[in-house]
Amino acid sequence: MNPTKPLLTAVSVLILAGCSSLPGGGPEADKTYRLTILHTNDHHGRFWKNGDGEYGMAARKTLIDQIRAEVKESGGETLLLDGGDVNTGVPESDLQDAVPDFRGMNLIGYDAMAVGNHEFDKPLNILRMQRDLARFPMLSANIYDNGKRMFDPYKVFSVGGLRVGVMGMTTEDTSKMVSPDNIKGIEFRSVIAEAAKVVPELRGKADIVIAATHMGHYQNGEAGTQSPGDVEMARAVKGIDLVVGGHTQNPACMKSENVIDRAYVPGTPCAPDRQNGTWIVQAHEWGKYVGRADFAYRNGVLTLLKYELLPVNLKRSVRAADGKTSMVTYTPEIAEDKDMLALLKPFQDFGQEKLNVEIGSTDGRLEGDRAVVRARPASMAVLIGRALMERTKADFAVVNSGGVRDSLAAGKLTYKDILKVQPFGNTTVTVDLTGAEVMSYLNAAAKMSVGSGAFAQFAGVNLVITGGVVTSATIKGAPVDPAKTYRMVINNFMAAGGDGYPRLTGHKSFVDTGFVDADLLRAYISAKSPLKAADYAPGDAVVRR
Ligand SMILES: [Zn+2]
Repeated sequence: MNPTKPLLTAVSVLILAGCSSLPGGGPEADKTYRLTILHTNDHHGRFWKNGDGEYGMAARKTLIDQIRAEVKESGGETLLLDGGDVNTGVPESDLQDAVPDFRGMNLIGYDAMAVGNHEFDKPLNILRMQRDLARFPMLSANIYDNGKRMFDPYKVFSVGGLRVGVMGMTTEDTSKMVSPDNIKGIEFRSVIAEAAKVVPELRGKADIVIAATHMGHYQNGEAGTQSPGDVEMARAVKGIDLVVGGHTQNPACMKSENVIDRAYVPGTPCAPDRQNGTWIVQAHEWGKYVGRADFAYRNGVLTLLKYELLPVNLKRSVRAADGKTSMVTYTPEIAEDKDMLALLKPFQDFGQEKLNVEIGSTDGRLEGDRAVVRARPASMAVLIGRALMERTKADFAVVNSGGVRDSLAAGKLTYKDILKVQPFGNTTVTVDLTGAEVMSYLNAAAKMSVGSGAFAQFAGVNLVITGGVVTSATIKGAPVDPAKTYRMVINNFMAAGGDGYPRLTGHKSFVDTGFVDADLLRAYISAKSPLKAADYAPGDAVVRR
C-alpha cells in the first residue's frame, strides 16, 4: 500500500466568506473538511479469493480497515460505497443466495450500495431477504414497483459536520436483462429524468452529492443501443460531485479526455473520468480493486486531492531464469482479515459441499465427448444451447465445441457434473442480428474445422451446409429473413473473437448478460428434470454434405 498523508497544505482554495449554510447546520466557514470515498462494484459472488489468491473479501477488509484508520488519524472521514451487482457469478455464492457476500459487506461496514441489474436474477423474495440482511441501504431512485419507488432514492450521511448525499441509480436495461417473472409490475425509469429531479432535491439537503450507480461507464457517452450510463447522466444533469459506478466492469481510468485506458495496469496511476464538473470512477469488478478518492471540502468547494485504484492482491505471471513461471502480486501482498475468514470459511465449505447435491436427472446419456462434439452435432451441445436460449429469450444459439468438456451419464446429476461439462465460467452474450448478419455469422461458424474446439454446434436453427457453405437456414420453421431481426446467444469467449469466430463485442446490440454458462445449464436442468435425452438428440437439424 501507498500511504497517503493528508495534503491539507495542498488545498489552496480561496473562496470569499459568506457562503450560505444549508438548513440543519452546515459546515463551518473557513474550515477544511477531509472526506475519503472508498468504492467497489460488480462483486458478483466473489466473497472468496480465487485459486491464485487474488481478491476476496478477507484481504479487502484488511485494506479498507487500514485506509479508514489512516484517514481517521489525519482527521478525515470515510464512506464506503458499492456500485451494485453483488449477485451472480460463482456457484458457492449463487447456491447460497449471496448471503456470504452480504454478510461480508456488513462486516466490512459498507455505508450504501446501488441496486444492480443482477440483484433481480433471483425471485423478489431473495432480494427482499438480502435487503433485510444488509445493514446498509440498497439505493435506487429510478426503480418503481407499481408506481412507487421500490428502494430509498438516496441517503444523507452526516460525517464530521459534512452532509453527504448519496443517491442510487440502476440501468434501464435491467428490464431486458432479467427474467420477466422477477420484475412484474416493476419499471426501470429514465435515469436522467430521475437524476434531474433528485439532484436538486439532494442539493437542498447536502453539501456533497454522490451518485452510486449501476449504469455503466461508456467512453465519451457512447452507449450504443444500451441505455444511458454515467457519462450521459453527468452531462445531462449538473450538480453531481462524484459518480461511483458499475456495470461495465472496467477500471474507469482515462488515457486522455474521453478516451478510456483499455490497457490499465494494476498499481499504476489512474485518472478518473471528469464530465460537466462530475468525477466518475469505477473499480473494475469482483473486488479486484478498492477505489480511493480523497477530497477536501472548504467553503462550499470540493477538491479531489488524490485518486487511486488499489489492487487487492492482483497478480501477474513472472517467468524466472530457469523458465518456471510463478504468480506475483503487483503491489505488496495484503494479509487476509481473520474475522472475515472466520465468517466466510463455513460458507465456502458449505458451498463446495452443495456442489455435490443432486440438482436433476436425465433418462439417458447426453453426448459431449470430445471426439464426438468436435466432429458432429451432439446432444450435450444442443442442451447447452437450449439452456442459453431459455434464459435470454434468444432465437438460436451457437456453441463452440471446445467449450463442451464432458458428457452427462444417465441418472442423477449434480452441479459438480455440470461444472465438468462447462468449467470455464464463461458469461452469456446476446446480439440482435439482421437476417443478413445471421447468415454471415452462420457461414463463418459452418467453416470451423472438424476436430477443432472451434467446430460449431447449433440450437434453435436448422441448417443445410453444402461444401462448407450454408445453403439453407430455418429458425422456428421459417427460412431466415434478411429483413427480420433475430437474437443470437453465444458465450463471451466467442463474442471476443475466440476460436476465430467473428468478433461481436463492438456490435451495437452486444450485451454481456453476466450469466455464467454453467449456472444457466444448472437452472435449465433443475427446471426440466427429469430430462428426456431424446429431446436433445440433434437428429437431422444440421446436415452437412
Ligand atoms: Zn450489471
